[in-house]
Amino acid sequence: MTSPSDGPLALLVRPPWGWALAALWGALWGSFFNVCIYRIGLYESVVRPRSRCPSCGTPIAGFDNVPILSWLVLGGRCRHCRAPISLRYPLIEALSAGLALGVYARFVAGRPEIDAVVLASHFFVYFAFAGTLLVLAGIDFDHKLLPDRITMPALPIFFVAGLLLRDVPDVAVLGGLVPGGEQLLGIVLGYGVVALTVELSYVILGREGMGYGDAKLLALVGGLLGWRGVVVTFFGAPFIGLFVLVPALAARRRRLFGLEVPFGPFLVGAALAYLYFGHLLPAPLTFLAP
Ligand SMILES: [Zn+2]
Repeated sequence: MTSPSDGPLALLVRPPWGWALAALWGALWGSFFNVCIYRIGLYESVVRPRSRCPSCGTPIAGFDNVPILSWLVLGGRCRHCRAPISLRYPLIEALSAGLALGVYARFVAGRPEIDAVVLASHFFVYFAFAGTLLVLAGIDFDHKLLPDRITMPALPIFFVAGLLLRDVPDVAVLGGLVPGGEQLLGIVLGYGVVALTVELSYVILGREGMGYGDAKLLALVGGLLGWRGVVVTFFGAPFIGLFVLVPALAARRRRLFGLEVPFGPFLVGAALAYLYFGHLLPAPLTFLAP
């Protein structure tokens, strides 16, 4: 059932071990995503210094930095000063593991006919993409900011990665095929449609609805997933927004107007929904990845 070129890699990539490794990979990177969300929003280095307890400043030992488990074992408190540690850290780690399992389920599991190297490439690229979006959503949630420091380098990296995966169609121009054509259209459309929305809301509402950070985020989505992904993300995000905001506002009895809500997390939600379920959409919007 395996492809002839499958080497030892196949054992690690294919089920059942692939599932476990995917979850582990996701949880470990989740730890790093926490650091990125916390520090990049504050313009700090994500490499140095090593993580410390925000209350007592004690560096966190390796054995207290095991994703999810350490938080549970320590009862959500610092080992030294017993100050509470936010539930958000294990939640992001669990979410990241969930994103990895989702990518595995969508692009790797149940595809014995596809070469293990191809499956592994799909896993690494799409998990890296999902993780990048998770970090952007976290920073936007905290600071109402989508840093160029992430979106600008991520755009060319994921564009090239998408070219190599070849999941998004080329575009025929003058009888020849332009490789990555739909991705290029995605970048232009993603940036353009948000930039247009920003300028129009200045004219009509007298204030920003979205910002240019959102434009770069949607360009990034288009750069990997193509223009179809941009269309679904742009029109899907407000629905996710309503789905989340209306119950939250009803619970808090606050009015929608005058409340400043970052839009990035909703764009991220819609883009991830397209990544995981885009193959179920009807023809012009289908995400054709295997
Ligand atoms: Zn402490």
